[in-house]
Amino acid sequence: MRFHFVKIFLLVFGLLVVWSFAGEQMAELRRSQAAAVEAIRSTAVTVAPNSSPTEIAKASNQGVDLTRIPIGDGRISTAPQVGYVWSCRTRFRTSAGPYANSGAWVQADGTYNLRTKPTVKGSVTWPSQFEIALSDGVRSIIGNRLPKHPTGQFPIARNDPAYAFDTNPNSITSEDYQVDLPAMPEVADTAACVPMGRIGVLRTGGYIFNALDVWGKDAVAYEIQDSCQGHPERHGAYHYHNLTTCLEDKIEGSAQVTGHSALVGYAFDGFGIYGHRGEGGKVLTNADLDACHGHTHDITWDGKKVNLYHYHATWEYPYTIGCYRGTPVVRSNNPQGPPNRQGPPDFQGPPPPQMPPPGGGEGLFF
Ligand SMILES: [Zn+2]
Ligand SMILES: [Zn+2]
Repeated sequence: MRFHFVKIFLLVFGLLVVWSFAGEQMAELRRSQAAAVEAIRSTAVTVAPNSSPTEIAKASNQGVDLTRIPIGDGRISTAPQVGYVWSCRTRFRTSAGPYANSGAWVQADGTYNLRTKPTVKGSVTWPSQFEIALSDGVRSIIGNRLPKHPTGQFPIARNDPAYAFDTNPNSITSEDYQVDLPAMPEVADTAACVPMGRIGVLRTGGYIFNALDVWGKDAVAYEIQDSCQGHPERHGAYHYHNLTTCLEDKIEGSAQVTGHSALVGYAFDGFGIYGHRGEGGKVLTNADLDACHGHTHDITWDGKKVNLYHYHATWEYPYTIGCYRGTPVVRSNNPQGPPNRQGPPDFQGPPPPQMPPPGGGEGLFF
């Protein structure tokens, strides 16, 4: 009996020791993660309260004519190609879209006027959660996909002038997620196509989708976004197809808009996405970038100077990422999909389901 008592005592004592040791370890891990989060926060770019068409008008564009941006329709490739989206999806809806009625901003010469394109009205604030933690070579992005800046009112109200061009019936909703990226990504042997749905995240907390809508057309040219250039898709995920003007595009820690742009987000292969300006403050075009929409030079990465590949946003199509230069960790076509798990590759996915009858707009928007 006493022998059993001693055994149980030793077992309980042993468990207590292990438990307290694990607790220490966890606390230590939490402390180091908190320090990493803090380090990243301190270099974060500012999220502007809200943007407006006037701010787009003021945007630094250095000779890139924002009143005549070439519409990217048809520039979809099946291999890396400068100025194209290498899209995993190859078949798109063919029926007329709910925003088939484009206004005067879409011009007969195949360009659109970003300065006069309407935006969805409203200023709705959200309880955004967005953190980046570095640990053991992994960058964990943890958020609820709500942006830090105010958004327009979605679904688009019938009395909003934007409704005449885009009847987006979706509401913005939150969903907790975590995406684990390599902290120091490497260029893969072969590039990879970009799926529909989320392909990266901006430091506002909103997702980046590729440049295409469900018709395979230039989403930035036709879709009506709010004044931060975002809108929700059918699952409620707020996203952008280009760089939002609600994230200040300037060099970290500087009030001057001169040098290389700040880090504005991460692609889901782990590489950084920077703003419109390259070295020397030059506003970049596709001609300055490779087929995946990036290039390699010295950048500041997690506080260190490194020679590393990175993507840039441009004012012109494909706006953010043309293909993945690294290995994507998120291939899900569905932002609702389980976080941090590889979804089925969508390289030759089935065609999208048929359009519902006119009037039913659910599920139409990417
Ligand atoms: Zn650069
Ligand atoms: Zn969209």
